Amino acid sequence: MTPPSRRALVPFVSVQNMMNLVHHIGLEQVLIDLAAEIEADFRRWPLFDKTPRVASHSDVGVIELMPTSDGEMYGFKYVNGHPKNMKEGLQTVTAFGLLADVQTGYPVLLTEMTLLTALRTAAMSALAARHLAPRGATTMAMIGNGAQSEFQCLAFKAICGVKTVRLHDIDPAATRKCSANLAASGLEVVACASAEAAIEGAQIITTCTADKQFATILTDNMVGAGVHINAIGGDCPGKTELHRDILLRSEIFVEYPPQTRVEGEIQSLDPDHPVTELWQVITGAARGRTDPRQITLFDSVGFAIEDFSALRYILARIRGTPFSEPLDMIADPDDPRDLFGMLARSAT
Ligand code: NAD
Repeated sequence: MTPPSRRALVPFVSVQNMMNLVHHIGLEQVLIDLAAEIEADFRRWPLFDKTPRVASHSDVGVIELMPTSDGEMYGFKYVNGHPKNMKEGLQTVTAFGLLADVQTGYPVLLTEMTLLTALRTAAMSALAARHLAPRGATTMAMIGNGAQSEFQCLAFKAICGVKTVRLHDIDPAATRKCSANLAASGLEVVACASAEAAIEGAQIITTCTADKQFATILTDNMVGAGVHINAIGGDCPGKTELHRDILLRSEIFVEYPPQTRVEGEIQSLDPDHPVTELWQVITGAARGRTDPRQITLFDSVGFAIEDFSALRYILARIRGTPFSEPLDMIADPDDPRDLFGMLARSAT
């Protein structure tokens, strides 16, 4: 039997190996590194192929493909969002992703991205807050204490210097889980019985809930001057977290407007409502927070370039480590025209 050609083996990072890699580097260091990778890619934003993600909606959730390329590498992520999954003992969000060489089209990495999505989303949130949150912010309200929540809290600690997190979830068991997971993190953790209690004294408010409806996690009267809102959970048509009046009082920052106008909080605003693209704040082409009393809102939906940055980071960091395994997923006969012959020879 002809052995598969070595050059076509694709490194695969399993969930176990992703966990091994994160522990090897250190969780907070990974978050810091990912924020730096995303920031570097946002600085070269015009260079990327950009398209809103391709979404397939059902009554209970969404399955999406998120592609992009910088001309040298091509990447995509497969990701789902099924808020009802959690009650069935399943993840709301799962993902995997692939990176390929544009010159040959051959994949160079296949990896789990459920953990990596939580890491990159947290890094992205904290990176945005570093540019937009009020100076000296040390307290964050964390509303929605599910799978993403601890990653968010740790990224804000590592990247923005947050010291206290005030947790709230409609399910107290989620808050207990999040508190326990953060007990040794160095953060002061305060469990709160209501969203109103959680935002008391917080300069940053993160909403990270999952419900396939127009929800109102924050109402207008709850949001005081000067706060930064990091809205993660509203990321699908018909799935938002903030009352429209909050948006009308906020300076709104987004990843990629053609995608966010369909999926983000701003789907409830006029299609020409002014928003600022975050990459322009990062390059200095647009202004971020201009006034300590301003409400800044990062209307996060998650964009393909963030996943591309994360994929490239993982590819670079697995080199020389045992944290990947070669996957025989590309048929690559020695004679490229003899695909059939390769199959035929394998029978003997
Ligand atoms: P999850 O299901 O694990 O957790 C969601 C939590 O929200 C649950 O604990 C639930 O009890 C709580 N919740 C629901 N309604 C609430 C309410 N009204 N008030 C307070 N808490 C409430 O989900 P997850 O994986 O943590 O994801 C959270 C959200 O973030 C999802 O909507 C997901 O689609 C979104 N997400 C966005 C990005 C992005 O880049 N913007 C990335 C990943 C996930």
